[in-house]
Amino acid sequence: MRADLELELQHCRGLPSPPGVALRIIQLAQDPDAIMATASNLIGLDVALSARMLRIANSPLYASRRRVENLSQALTLLGLNATLTLALGFSLARQMSQPGTMSPRDRIWKRSVVAALAARVLGERVGTRQLEELMLAGLLQDIGVLALGQLYPEEYLPLLEQAQGNVGLLQAERDAFGTDHAEIGMKLTRYWNLPDLLCDAIGLSESDGALPEFQACIRLSGLIADIWLTPDTELAHSRAQAACVSQLSMDPGQFNSAVDDVRTMLPDVCEIFDVHIPSPSRIQAILEEAKELTQLRTLRDVQEAARARKEADEFEGHAKRLAEEVRRDALTGIFNRAQLEKVLEMEFDAAQRHGWPLSVAFIDLDHFKKVNDRWGHLVGDEVLRNFAQALQVYLRGSDIVARYGGEEFMIVLPGIDASAAAKVVQRILAEITRLPMTTVDGEPLHVTFSAGLATQGPGAPFPTIEALLTSADQALYVAKRDGRNRVVGA
Ligand code: GH3
Ligand code: MG
Ligand code: MG
Repeated sequence: MRADLELELQHCRGLPSPPGVALRIIQLAQDPDAIMATASNLIGLDVALSARMLRIANSPLYASRRRVENLSQALTLLGLNATLTLALGFSLARQMSQPGTMSPRDRIWKRSVVAALAARVLGERVGTRQLEELMLAGLLQDIGVLALGQLYPEEYLPLLEQAQGNVGLLQAERDAFGTDHAEIGMKLTRYWNLPDLLCDAIGLSESDGALPEFQACIRLSGLIADIWLTPDTELAHSRAQAACVSQLSMDPGQFNSAVDDVRTMLPDVCEIFDVHIPSPSRIQAILEEAKELTQLRTLRDVQEAARARKEADEFEGHAKRLAEEVRRDALTGIFNRAQLEKVLEMEFDAAQRHGWPLSVAFIDLDHFKKVNDRWGHLVGDEVLRNFAQALQVYLRGSDIVARYGGEEFMIVLPGIDASAAAKVVQRILAEITRLPMTTVDGEPLHVTFSAGLATQGPGAPFPTIEALLTSADQALYVAKRDGRNRVVGA
């Protein structure tokens, strides 16, 4: 920092100083025993300040259901801390906004007002509780510019006029004074005895690095204010958005809704500060475009979710098929032996409990080895597949057919007694014999089978499933021995 500037700051010669009421508010804010009555008396002495406090309490910033009619109600609504912070902001603002010789002063002042609101809106978004402090720091962040303008009008004002944007101004300040307006602002507010949080946030308001939330809100509030205060609205918008996204982890949708909040509340805030800030003509269009983009993204998210869901459904279907495959015989698609055993257990149990009959039939293809030997295994396979399908066709839904192994099948007929079961299996044998099971070289291939029946019923109770099956197996043996192509009951 330049030596003369250092000296000026040390001795505070010619530096702007806060008006009397602001000084008293600062003192009050540092007094741990301060009470609302004192603050109220102090503010009440200043008609303009009282009017502003009343206006802000009735503004959308503090939207309360009932209208605040007088200063005391307003201050009660705000609470002591907010009251003091806002009152300090207003009394300092009055000094900042005084028309002077400095032509860009008006622009700086307007930027401060938008930044104060933007800092508050950002604070709300990130869930900070020090909203008034954010407003005050937002408002004062460029006070260093005013101080430099007042101390060195001839040297500084041309810099201010010619600087290309804020970045250009900071560079010019550093070249000319060895410091910048953020540092000057911090020194000045420290000299005024403002709380450290505020002074630090002002000092960091032009820094590039990662900042804690409060300080980041201040730094970003200036960038949002530039959307209103610089000629290239689009550029300012995209700069502010990039910074908010990276420094406050906002998404573009959240950023744009924050900017929209600033846009809606700005007229009220302008009224409180007695300043006119026109809305950039492009701002509405930019926000609408951004909204459309966000909606498009939402649509993409929806489509993405639908696709993921479809995949999950497909996966579930696949898992179901796998589970089904475990139950079914690979060659014929009917139940395998493991599944047969489960079903038999259930049916045997039910038959015993309810006392209803349960018939089972072992079915074994006759001389099947010859089919393989003569026509080959592939033809044998084809016959087995078609045979299994035919069995299913001739049975009812409640009957069960399973491949027991090789060319041996089992039919389970719940609720069917011995004589009815014999008729069912006889009919199946007749049909199967009539139907070709495949064709070889254009010739139909017929097969026959032998069946052994056993029935669990009131007359002949089998103690176990094994006993029932052994009985059916013995009947099958008899059918084979007696010449095949027949059904034998146990
Ligand atoms: P029987 O009338 O006494 O039952 O004579 P069979 O030839 O049918 O009986 P055997 O038990 O001697 O032979 C069964 C044949 O069934 C032997 C085997 O190669 C065949 N086989 C078993 N499983 C399959 C299969 O999955 N595919 C094919 N193509 N053949 C099979
Ligand atoms: Mg056989
Ligand atoms: Mg066999």
